[in-house]
Parts: sequence; structure tokens; C-alpha cells
Amino acid sequence: MPPPRLTSAMTDSSLHARRARRRPCRVARTLRGPSYGAPVWLFDLDNTLHNASRAIFPAINAGMTQYIIDALGVSRDEANHLRTSYTHRYGATLLGLTRHHPIDPHDFLKVVHTFDDLHGMLHAERGLARTLAALPGRKIVLTNGPEDYAHAVLAALGIERLFERVIAIEGMRSRSHWRAKPDCAMLRGTLRRAGVALADAILIEDTRSHLKRYRRLGIRTVWITGHLPAHLPATGRPHYVDRRIRSLKSLKPGLQSGRSK
Ligand SMILES: [Mg+2]
Repeated sequence: MPPPRLTSAMTDSSLHARRARRRPCRVARTLRGPSYGAPVWLFDLDNTLHNASRAIFPAINAGMTQYIIDALGVSRDEANHLRTSYTHRYGATLLGLTRHHPIDPHDFLKVVHTFDDLHGMLHAERGLARTLAALPGRKIVLTNGPEDYAHAVLAALGIERLFERVIAIEGMRSRSHWRAKPDCAMLRGTLRRAGVALADAILIEDTRSHLKRYRRLGIRTVWITGHLPAHLPATGRPHYVDRRIRSLKSLKPGLQSGRSK
């Protein structure tokens, strides 16, 4: 399908944002840079700390499509196309919607991430809290999802107390512009504000495009594949992945290059 048409609502700033997103991350001047010594684990949320493929993602996708139909008055096919193409282009459907359409971003985030039976929809590794607690160093959640949803998931999994902070999509904004992974300026600014040196950061993610862009900043990368849906590749180890794991149980303090199944 062709990408969505540019609309009259597309502004100079949105064009600038598109160009910025297509540019590769500027390589860090020194890949090791200043370091405070201890590792800082940056955990993605969905399909990293829990399995979102089974129930949560299908529900979020259905909710987003319905929201777009209701808000924009488009067909289901067009709504599905906008949802997927905006995720591909901007890293999050929300960013495309806010740039091209007059929607209420907070209402959108709340409506599509609120579930009556969140507990029943969650699936995670056995012993998750124990696994995370045994990992030395600071732990931060870095998610393109909204704050309330992220906190609700962490609380339901019984692991909220193990994280120093949650950086959700509301906290990635720059001035009035929404940002999301894999925006490089966003990550640099976010880590600076959190007092995290790039050389100490280890990103654990299921989304390879995020790992690929952020590896150029000099952070270390772990690709977790255990929750990926069957149609996505989960083999091999791309050059920008320091370690491939299936389970968080494979995380070890001394991160070394190599594979782990
Ligand atoms: Mg993810």
C-alpha cells in the first residue's frame, strides 16, 4: 500500500520531524564515552517484560483502528492502513495521528490502552520479579506506551517497585512535539535528564529497528525474541545486536557479545 497522503494539516515542523527520523543517529564521538561504571538497564515494556502478542497487542490494534474510524470517519481498511503506516514511519501510531489529524492524543492513549481485564490478558515469564531483582544496576522502563498503561502492567506483574522510573511516551515529548523510540535526540535528552551515560546503558528490546538506530549511539543492545509473534524472524544476530536472548533469565551482569537461546 502507498504511504498515507500528506494532508493540509502537515506542517513544516512535521516535515522536519520526518526528515530527522529518516536520518541515521549521529554516531557517538566515542563509543565508550564517559561512564559511571554500573550498568543501567533500559527495558522496553511490551514483548520484552511480558508477552503482548497473545492478547494485549490484538486488543490495542483493534482499539486503535476503531478510534481512527470514529475520529476520522474513514473505512476500516483505511484506518488499518493509517495505523500500520504511522507506526512504521514514526515509531508510534500516535505520532502520525497528531501530525496529520486533529485528534486528542491523551484521549487516544487512554481509550486504546484501558482494559477491564488487564490481569487476564497478561502473560509473562515465570519468576520474572526474581529474575529482575537479581540483576545489579539501575533499571528503567522505556516504552512507547502511555504512563498509566505502563504502570498498570508493571503493577499487575508485581515488578513496579523494581524500576527506578518509567519513561513513557508522555515523557518523551520535546516542547509541544510528541516523540517516540527510535528518535535519537529523544533518547539522548531522556538519558541525560535521567543521569544515564550512554556507555552504561543496555537496551533490552524486541523491536530490531530500535536496537539498530540506538546501537549507533554507543549503547549496548539485547534483542529479546521469546515473545515475538510467529511471523517475525527471531533467528540470527544482526551486527547491531550485542546479545540475542529468548528469556530475561539469560541476562547476566557482564554483558558480552554472543548468542543465548
Ligand atoms: Mg516492544
